[in-house]
Amino acid sequence: MTLSEDKISALSELLHQPRQQIVIVAHTNPDGDAVGSSLAWAEALRTMGHQVTCVVPNKHPYFLDWMNGLEEMVIFKTDEEGRAEAAVRDADLIFCLDFNSLSRLEILSELIARNTTAKRVLIDHHLSPDEGFDLMFSYPTSSSTCFLVYSLIERLFGVETISKRMAESLYVGMMTDTGNFAFSFLTPELFRAVAVLIERGISVPEIHNNVYNAYTEGRARLFGYAINRKMQLIEDGTVAYMSLMENEMRRFGFQQGDSEGFVNYALTIKKMKMSAMFVAQRKFIRVSLRSRGDVDVNVFARKYFNGGGHKNAAGGKSFVSMRETIDHYIRSVHEFKEEGGLG
Ligand code: 5GP
Ligand code: MN
Repeated sequence: MTLSEDKISALSELLHQPRQQIVIVAHTNPDGDAVGSSLAWAEALRTMGHQVTCVVPNKHPYFLDWMNGLEEMVIFKTDEEGRAEAAVRDADLIFCLDFNSLSRLEILSELIARNTTAKRVLIDHHLSPDEGFDLMFSYPTSSSTCFLVYSLIERLFGVETISKRMAESLYVGMMTDTGNFAFSFLTPELFRAVAVLIERGISVPEIHNNVYNAYTEGRARLFGYAINRKMQLIEDGTVAYMSLMENEMRRFGFQQGDSEGFVNYALTIKKMKMSAMFVAQRKFIRVSLRSRGDVDVNVFARKYFNGGGHKNAAGGKSFVSMRETIDHYIRSVHEFKEEGGLG
C-alpha cells in the first residue's frame, strides 16, 4: 500500500487551517477497527489543535469498554442532547472511517448525507467505495483502517506524535481486523507499524486479553449452542450457515457483539469454502459472510444480500423471514457454485 502523494497534499491542505471543527464517523455496530481508528485519528487531530467530535450510530460492543477515550464518543442512537446533530451542523470537515457507503451509517446516514456543508473525507479499506466524497483514501489492500490511519499519521505528523493511548487504539483495529494477524494483507509494513506501537509502550498480551477474554458466561454458552445445534452444512460439507433468532439470543443474555466471530468458526473445518451467519434484528436479518481463498463473498453479498465488504469477509441485510432468508441463501449458493464462484 502506497499512499498517493497528491491525496496526502490535499489532506494536508484541508488540515492546514487551525482550530477547525471536525467530526469523525464510523459504521453501525462499530468494531475494534472502527472504534480504534476513530479514537486514534481524533487524538492526532486534537494534537494539531482541532476540535474533534467522534460519532457512532450505535454503541460499541462491551469487550471494547476498556478503551481510553470512549467516553467522549457520541452514540447517535442515545444522543438526547443532540450533540451529534450540532457537531455535524458546525463541522468544517467530516472524516468517514472504516466504511465505504453512507448507507452503512444506517440511522446516522441522513444526517451525514444532508445536514452539513462540511467536506467529507473517506479513510477506508473496503472494496468499491461510493462516490461523492471530497477526498478519498480508499485502500482495500490495507488490512485495517487502523493501519491506514497509522500510515497517514506517519506521513503527515511523524510516528513520534503517536502516544501510548493512540498506539493502543491503533493496535486494537490491526489485531481484530486481521483475526489476530492471521488473515490477508499481512505485509512487512504492517509488522513494522506494530513494532513502532510496541515501542510506544503498548502491551500486546494485555490488549489481547482485554478484547478476546472479556466475554460473559452467556456468550460462551451461546457459542457452544450455535456450533452444536445451529450450524448446518450444505454442498457436500463445503458451505455452512448458522442462524440466531431473538428468543435464542434472549435465552443466553445476548449483548451486542456476542455473535462476533461465530461465522469464522465453520472455516476451521478443512474443506469449508464459505460460511454465513444470520442474526435476527428488529427490522431485518443481519448477514455475515466469510470465505477462504478465491471464493469472493464481497461479490456474493452484493449480488444476493444488498451488501458488500471484502473478498473473504462481507455482510449484508435480508428483509424477509429467517426461513426465507435461509432458503434464499441455499438457492443463491447453488447458483453461485454453478457459475464457478466456489472454485
Ligand atoms: P461482519 O460480518 O463482521 O459484520 O462484516 C464483515 C465485513 O462486511 C465488514 O468489513 C463490513 O464492513 C462488511 N459489511 C457488513 N455488513 C454490511 C452491509 O450491510 N453492507 C455492506 N456494504 N458491507 C457490510
Ligand atoms: Mn475495518
